[in-house]
Amino acid sequence: MTNLTPSDKALVPFVSVDNMMKLIHHVGLEEMLSQLANYIEADFKRWELFDKTPRVASHSDVGVIELMPTSDGEAYGFKYVNGHPKNTSEGLQTVTAFGLLADVYTGYPVLLTEMTILTAMRTAATSGLVAKYLAPKGADTMAMIGNGAQSEFQSMAMKAICGLKTVRLYDIDSKATEKAARNLAGSGLNVVACASAEEAMEGAQIITTCTADKQYATILTDNMVGSGVHINAIGGDCPGKTELAADILHRSDIFVEYPEQTRIEGEIQQLDPDHPVIELWQVMSGTAKGRTSDKQITLFDSVGFAIEDFSALRYVRDKIAGTDLFFELDLLADPDDPRDLFGMLGRAAG
Ligand code: NAD
Repeated sequence: MTNLTPSDKALVPFVSVDNMMKLIHHVGLEEMLSQLANYIEADFKRWELFDKTPRVASHSDVGVIELMPTSDGEAYGFKYVNGHPKNTSEGLQTVTAFGLLADVYTGYPVLLTEMTILTAMRTAATSGLVAKYLAPKGADTMAMIGNGAQSEFQSMAMKAICGLKTVRLYDIDSKATEKAARNLAGSGLNVVACASAEEAMEGAQIITTCTADKQYATILTDNMVGSGVHINAIGGDCPGKTELAADILHRSDIFVEYPEQTRIEGEIQQLDPDHPVIELWQVMSGTAKGRTSDKQITLFDSVGFAIEDFSALRYVRDKIAGTDLFFELDLLADPDDPRDLFGMLGRAAG
């Protein structure tokens, strides 16, 4: 393990799960969530530069495996990610991921990294960033419905970026709520474990739904949602996998990452294909309005878009420079004579 230098061009820095955790502790969890949000915001503000495509999904009866590519013309990134709600019952993660950043000029990878933890970080940072634009002024209480792997990250990002003070937890599995409450004890958040979604929503100005179920679920019904709240809908992110009753969508102003992908995967798959939505990059660039009234229900129909992963990859590349938080992988064949790949193979035999 050495620092990144130009002479290392054929070796690819690799950030393991262990080193990702060290990086987060080195920077500080809340500081890193804020810094990631800044990188994501910067990339949303230059949205038009990017290659964009809905992610490439391979569905099965039990889950989905997806590739999420994008490029800003100088760097190219992709993430491999799965979504398998049944996995937790087998002792496995619902979501795992890794990703790669490459130099567009040479096509050579410049970073390979774990992205299971980084996805939780970037998803939470995006939620916090979006809530900064859309949540009602002075919002300090959030209902956190679904207390699985993403939930503590979501809570801490709302604290770091939006000044959240209280999180009210609910999960159909009380063990998940106990786990989240334990993990968030000492975080500076006031943590309240609740026995129902309705109870969790009492006094909450922000409602985060982050459940995993491969069906049209109804985590929130219309009568549960009062005026003026911000809904941060994270779990509906696949065809046939949603969390909100359609009536709520009709009462909300709906904000999305990339409409072409969200119409396939998000809550709005339940609506007509031309139902109006507002693109977040326009809100962040000042060309579209965010929250305009105290009564308005704002809904972030989050599915997770490739540019957020690109921002996270860019961030990790910048942060590991000059540290020993990576290994160097012999991933690229690098013969002295670039046309003598066969000769290099022959010499290896001897
Ligand atoms: P997880 O399996 O670790 O946790 C999900 C939790 O939801 C579980 O504790 C489960 O008991 C709970 N749950 C299921 N049905 C419920 C219900 N009706 N009411 C209350 N709780 C319920 O999953 P995770 O890694 O935390 O991910 C949560 C969801 O977020 C998944 O659907 C995942 O695909 C999605 N996700 C979205 C993004 C994004 O960018 N939008 C990123 C990552 C994950």
